[in-house]
Parts: sequence; structure tokens; C-alpha cells
Amino acid sequence: MLPVVNHDARGSRLERALRGRVRGEVRFDAKSRLLYSTDASIYQILPIGVVVPLDAADAEAAIRVAAEEGVPVLPRGGGTGLAGQTVGAALVLDFSKRMNRILEIDPDRRRARVQPGVRLDRLNRAAAPHGLQFGPDPATIRQCVLGGMIGNNSCGARSLVYGKTGDHVHGLHCILADGGCTHFGPVQRADIPTLPGREGDLARQVMSLLEPERERILARYPKVPRRVSGYNFDTLLEAPELNLAQLLVGSEGTLATVVEAELGLVPVPAHRGLVLLAFSGRFDSMDAIAAILPEPGLSALEIVDDRVLRGARELLEYRDTAALVSPDARGVLFVEFSGDSAEEVAGLAHDFAARAPGLPGSPTPGVYLDKLAQFNAWALRQAATGLLYRTTAHRDIKPTEFVEDTGIPPEKLGA
Ligand SMILES: Cc1cc2nc3c(=O)[nH]c(=O)nc-3n(C[C@H](O)[C@H](O)[C@H](O)COP(=O)(O)OP(=O)(O)OC[C@H]3O[C@@H](n4cnc5c(N)ncnc54)[C@H](O)[C@@H]3O)c2cc1C
Repeated sequence: MLPVVNHDARGSRLERALRGRVRGEVRFDAKSRLLYSTDASIYQILPIGVVVPLDAADAEAAIRVAAEEGVPVLPRGGGTGLAGQTVGAALVLDFSKRMNRILEIDPDRRRARVQPGVRLDRLNRAAAPHGLQFGPDPATIRQCVLGGMIGNNSCGARSLVYGKTGDHVHGLHCILADGGCTHFGPVQRADIPTLPGREGDLARQVMSLLEPERERILARYPKVPRRVSGYNFDTLLEAPELNLAQLLVGSEGTLATVVEAELGLVPVPAHRGLVLLAFSGRFDSMDAIAAILPEPGLSALEIVDDRVLRGARELLEYRDTAALVSPDARGVLFVEFSGDSAEEVAGLAHDFAARAPGLPGSPTPGVYLDKLAQFNAWALRQAATGLLYRTTAHRDIKPTEFVEDTGIPPEKLGA
């Protein structure tokens, strides 16, 4: 059901003020507000209005106006967040449309400077001629943008090797809630007392709040490599240098708006090989995971179950790839190895495949070393969420699909 679009007095005042001071699009019409009222989640909340900033100065102007009017701001990237992060009764700032320039790629330092609306696949294409890429690779690589990845602290199938987005963020140019512009980057801890400007004031304030709670924070933050919930207080306390950019990573736009990011790049692995393990039981495939994690050269370990495979078999696009595993398979593990030479990767993959039948659930392995087969297999894995949504068992019922990510220790997955 579509929500009723009211134009309230607060919205009218805000719109007038924005039109006077912002050069980019200012959209308060019903259609725009409806369009921006949803994202990839199940939630729908009408924004007060939408601004499409042309550059950092434009975003700064919009945030200043919002602060003067007492209206919250909500930065938005690709809108692929699954938990409603980009919907809210706020002034939405869409960075994906105009602030999407790659400002610099420095192959020697393995760094990139980007505006927040740069799509991840575009950054990777630009870095590829230098043999580089951005490490984290969410399944939404063709839709998500770097600002949104920073907001969510996104990670992907290769998080075993590359960790989370925050592990690759060196510095951020941000606009704070009052419209002030600040840069956050690494700071020697000894320099904090004399650090000038907003960054210095904030560094001292944040650390004076965190230090008294140091013991409790470090004891109680879950020791899960892919933890992306909550503010990164543990990183601020533990890292050798202080970098307030790390506080913004994963903060879902609640602390500041990123208008430029300095990011680290990683070498594109020279060679990759994939082993698909087909299990006759869905939970068996989960039981095997803990035993596979210590494998040398492992760069990705992902799972799909028979519901995804069933959906894949129904679609021409994925049918051939789904046929790589037996129709009886109830669970499939994608086990990827990376290395510097084709021989090394082939050795790792074949050695693992030879031992795989001894894993819990006695899976049947298949080794894929050519690029096209691997590309197709990963395309199926990346489509898994969409394929899960294809609930065709009861065609007269339209289910409401949603995804909630949870974290479970690998050794307890099948339990
Ligand atoms: C099918 C599917 C598969 C997915 N797979 C993965 C996966 O493998 N790994 C993973 O981590 N996630 C995954 N996701 C979730 C999501 O796609 C990623 O987290 C993605 O990186 C979010 O990027 P985005 O540009 O869409 O961000 P958005 O959804 O637009 O925004 C995400 C958050 O960042 C904030 N934000 C946006 N821009 C800025 C800015 N300029 N300054 C400050 N904050 C900002 C927003 O306010 C919001 O809180 C998946 C989602 C779907 C639908």
C-alpha cells in the first residue's frame, strides 16, 4: 500500500531555504519522496525531502540548512542496505547520482581517492589496469557505492582475506551535523593533546568518553571477525594510531556525512581456483565449514542451499551452473583458493578436493580452474538473495521477503 504524501509546513520552509542555497537538485515532490521512501529492506518511510548534491560544498550547504531547520539528514548511496538504513523521516542526500567521481588512483601507494557515490565495480575497473582492486566485495558490487560501504562497513565473500571496508579506509572528508567540514585521518596517540581544529577537539572528547570504559568495551565487544554492528569503539581503543575515520565506518550515517574517502587498494590475485563441494544434507555442509577454514590459500568460503539451487535451475541464466552439482545436493560450499601461479592454485585446489570426501557429510567435490566457470559460479552465489525471493511453491501468495544478517560461530553453524 502506498503511504499518503502530505506536504507539511516544516517541509515547505526547508525546501525554500534549500532552493536558495543548494545548486543541485532539491526534490520535495510526491513522486521523488515516494521513490526515496524505500531501499532493499522491507521498510518504507517518506523522507521530508531529497537533495542531490553536486559537490562537497553543496552537501555542506544542504546540511547547514537542515541543521538550522532542526531536520535530520540521511545520506544515501546505492540504497541496497537490507535493514532500512536509508529510509527515514529526514532530508535524504543522494550521493550516487552526481558525486560519483574517482578523484585519484595512486598505484605506487596503492591508494584511491573517491567521492562517496562511486560504484564499487567502477572503482575496480579503474584500478584493474594497475593490477589493483578494492578488497571487500559485497554481492551488490554493481549497485553499491563506496559511501554506503563505509556507512555499513560492508564486507563480502572474500572477507577471510580482505576483512571489512573499515580495514581499507585511511582518511575521510566529512560534514558534521552542524554543517562544519572536517578531515579525519591517522593521528599518533602522543599528538592527541595538541591536535588542532575540530579533529583535535573531537579526538580528545571521544577518547575521554572511551578511556574510562576501556576494560568493559574490550571485554564485551564480540570477537567476531565480521562484526559490523555498533560503533567501532574497540578499534579506537586498540589500534596503534587513533583514526576517527574508523568511528564513522559502520556508523550508518549517524555521526557525519562522508564527502570524500581515501581508500587502500589490494593486488588482484594472479590466479584463483574454485572447488564446489556438494553435500546430501544442508546441515552437513555447515558442519564442514570449521574444518575448511584453516586450509592454506583459502580466499573465500560461501554456502548455498537447495532452495537457492532450485531457483537457479528454474532460470535460464543460472541453469547450466546449477547443473555443475548433482540435483540431489541439499547444500553446496564454494571453496576458493588464490595464489601467485596457476600451478600453485591448481595444486591447492586438487589437494583439497582429494581430501574433501573425508570432511563431515562426505561431500562430492568438483574443481573449476577456468575463469568462465568460476565467474558463472560466483554469479549464481551473488544472485542467491534474489533467488531465495523466488518463492514459487504457492504462486497465489505474494510473500514479503526480508533478510536479517546474523553472526554464528562457524563451529556451531550446523548445530
Ligand atoms: C542481494 C544483496 C546482497 C548483499 N550482499 C552483501 C554482502 O555480501 N556483504 C555486505 O556487507 N552487504 C551486503 N548487502 C548489503 C549492502 O548491499 C551492502 O552493505 C552495500 O555495501 C551498501 O552500499 P549502498 O551504497 O547500497 O549503501 P546504502 O544502502 O545506500 O547506505 C548504507 C548506509 O551507509 C550510509 N551512507 C551512505 N552514504 C553515506 C555517506 N556519504 N556518508 C555517510 N554515510 C553514508 C547510509 O545512511 C546507510 O546507513 C547485500 C544487499 C543485498 C540486497
